[in-house]
Amino acid sequence: MSRSFDLVVIGGGPGGYVAALRASQLGLSVACIEKRSTFGGTCLNVGCIPSKALLDSSELYHITSHKLAKHGISVSKVSLDLAALMKRKEEVVKSLTSGIAGLFKKNKVTPIHGTGKVLSSSQVEVSNENGKEILTAKNILLATGSEITELPHLKFDHKFIVNSTDALSFTEVPEHLVVVGAGYIGLELGSVWSRLGSKVTVVEALPRILPPCDAEIAALVHKSLEKQGLKIHLNTKVESATVSGKKVTLKATGPEGPLNFTADKVLVAVGRKPNIEGLGLKEAGIQYDEKTLKVTVDSHFQTNLPHVYAIGDIIAGPMLAHKAQEEGVAVAEHLVGKPVHFNYDSIPSVIYIWPEVASVGPTEEQLKESGRAYKVGKFPFIASGRAKCMDEAEGIVKVLTDPKTDRVLAVHIFGPRASDMIAEAVTIVEFKGSAEDIARITHAHPTLSESLAEAARHASFGMPLHA
Ligand code: FAD
Ligand code: NAD
Repeated sequence: MSRSFDLVVIGGGPGGYVAALRASQLGLSVACIEKRSTFGGTCLNVGCIPSKALLDSSELYHITSHKLAKHGISVSKVSLDLAALMKRKEEVVKSLTSGIAGLFKKNKVTPIHGTGKVLSSSQVEVSNENGKEILTAKNILLATGSEITELPHLKFDHKFIVNSTDALSFTEVPEHLVVVGAGYIGLELGSVWSRLGSKVTVVEALPRILPPCDAEIAALVHKSLEKQGLKIHLNTKVESATVSGKKVTLKATGPEGPLNFTADKVLVAVGRKPNIEGLGLKEAGIQYDEKTLKVTVDSHFQTNLPHVYAIGDIIAGPMLAHKAQEEGVAVAEHLVGKPVHFNYDSIPSVIYIWPEVASVGPTEEQLKESGRAYKVGKFPFIASGRAKCMDEAEGIVKVLTDPKTDRVLAVHIFGPRASDMIAEAVTIVEFKGSAEDIARITHAHPTLSESLAEAARHASFGMPLHA
């Protein structure tokens, strides 16, 4: 007799595993199918977590090598043990992925290792080394995430032409790393290897870096990264890569004409695409966009096939772990009849370079394009007492508000620990608060968060206190 569940989740990433946990907490019987040997998806295994572990380690190395002297601390002979650094990253990943297995046990979610395929609105086939099994499901959730995009003229050989997963585990610091794509991954992993000693060249097809970012912030980030030693070529098209001996030569064309880069490794980071191969969508009649491969869902995350839902990187919206998680919670709660609440306008995004970039809400360009009137309030970290104490006074806070109501529409931060500061801005945007609300909340002194209050004062009262 086939095993039967209230909910079968295909994919154990942040979207899928969180949905499984929440559904189980709400009293549903749940199975979660994952084809990797560990749960946690891209995020925990080869994404957010290992990349942040490397960013944190490399930042410490950089601080110790370059920033301590100014604080009067002298350290002799700083050296790098790359193997130990990688081992720590692996331990962080292992502790978190095994933590999910523990959470499943505690919350009575049935873990199933194998590849899932939708057969109908109530049947899922699982294939693994033991053969095939058909599960019966009252509801099915597709949470199979995304995979790396490969460029046809830069095929991964995983040695010279590498992807983000390869770049999380280099065994030597490349002398010269060329990064194709100045997006999240290109700049985060480019920063890691630059801090560890690589010469890093970034090649971007568009006229600017970080296309989803506010343009003013992106321009400040560009300057900052170049100051840190990354060389960025904009408007540049890569044509070919040829391996010879231990080097790879990349041919490209930019505004300056033809360019040749000789490197030890080329990291291609030009985006990700929904992972729908082998999922049985066509056969089961589940609609998806032929061009973007994104599965079509309604406001309750239901596909055109009743009782089949989809969340995370395989549907529209930013490819971010917290977005996938919140969608997972929303589906689980919808299945037990709770109202679905999901506000796409208040999803934060963070780029974990240094200084960090964090934002919530539309960019200034998006507001302009939509014809919406707005006011801008700004405050530079150079005027922040705490940033000065830290000797980290680069960057700004930018608050965009509605000129009539003072409501905060967006906040964009480029500065130290922007990832932590953005939480207050998300709360204000979510609760439709005003710049005056932020300005009148007492912010502890001296903290970096005072800069958000100052930018809010600028937007609401016309000037910050420390102007
Ligand atoms: P995934 O995490 O991709 O999980 C899907 C899972 O489904 C996978 O484990 C896959 O093996 C499994 N699967 C696929 N098909 C099947 C099948 N047929 N049967 C069974 N299992 C299947 N986001 C952030 O918010 N913050 C960050 O700092 C961040 N850093 C990143 C760094 C890197 C290098 C990368 C690559 C991504 C990063 N992301 C980050 C993006 C984030 O990882 C994704 O947005 C997030 O993991 C999406 O979650 P998901 O559950 O939709 O899919
Ligand atoms: P991305 O979309 O962030 O950036 C890709 C960049 O490559 C863009 O700037 C694009 O213009 C450029 N590009 C595309 N084709 C090119 C070409 N042929 N030559 C040169 N440049 C080209 O994609 P990514 O960096 O691969 O990351 C994938 C996704 O993973 C991100 O969009 C994000 O959703 C997620 N992610 C998030 C985080 C985070 O939250 N901190 C970190 C890493 C990844």
